[in-house]
Amino acid sequence: MFFHVLTLFPEMIMEGLGTSILGRAMQKGCIQAEAINIRDYTTNKHQKVDDYTYGPGAGMLMQAQPVYDCVHAVLTRIAERRARSPETESPAEKRVRVVYVTPQGAVFDQKMAQEFAKEEDLVLLCGHYEGIDERVLEEVVTDYVSIGDYVLTGGELPAMVMVDAISRLVPGVLNNDESAVTDSFGNGLLEHPQYSRPQVWHDKEVPPVLLSGNHKLIEKWQLEESLKRTKERRPDLYQKWREENDHS
Ligand code: SAM
Repeated sequence: MFFHVLTLFPEMIMEGLGTSILGRAMQKGCIQAEAINIRDYTTNKHQKVDDYTYGPGAGMLMQAQPVYDCVHAVLTRIAERRARSPETESPAEKRVRVVYVTPQGAVFDQKMAQEFAKEEDLVLLCGHYEGIDERVLEEVVTDYVSIGDYVLTGGELPAMVMVDAISRLVPGVLNNDESAVTDSFGNGLLEHPQYSRPQVWHDKEVPPVLLSGNHKLIEKWQLEESLKRTKERRPDLYQKWREENDHS
């Protein structure tokens, strides 16, 4: 899977994604990521990409022209790459999803991450200042996604959050012992508590069932703990799980 992040701060993206599990996944070739500087596409002789918003309320807005030309250039490159290797890649005419990260979008969750992980390319557009001129958004954006009901200074962190969550679901990114299936939300619940060595720490013992070697009992314990924790911390998720799993 190839992430194309359109931003005014490309170094922030590449530094953020280049380490640990994602860095390793990029080296292995399971995922690819590029950060494209929107400023490179401005036709303004002073390299400007923003201007004042119309109407009352001072603020700067990213202008339509550089964003449009940047998105257009990236989509053209993707189409050309797909056309060069039609048998292994998505057809050139398949629409590439262009996500604008914005507090005004649908709130990102694991289900969305699973859906995006099926894409071969994903374009993520990061706003800054007051955001981006509405007219270009209308022309290029396919999805509006928020990472939560709060406002950040720019779209770079949201884009990185999305790349991280989606990448974990791309085959080969996680090792077997880092399976995403057993993580929270994999089955609609929060994950059960986990323990490592030593067996006793601060007078607290690892639950004895985990040392029993009885896999059936361990799984039963894990589900019970998972349900208990979800009920306490996320009653909304617990309710949903009950509705979907209680058939009696
Ligand atoms: N004026 C905008 C509004 O009220 O909706 C907020 C602009 S915000 C200061 C600047 C940029 O940060 C946005 O264009 C967006 O790309 C990004 N951003 C801020 N909060 C976000 C969030 N919760 N989720 C996704 N992107 C966010």
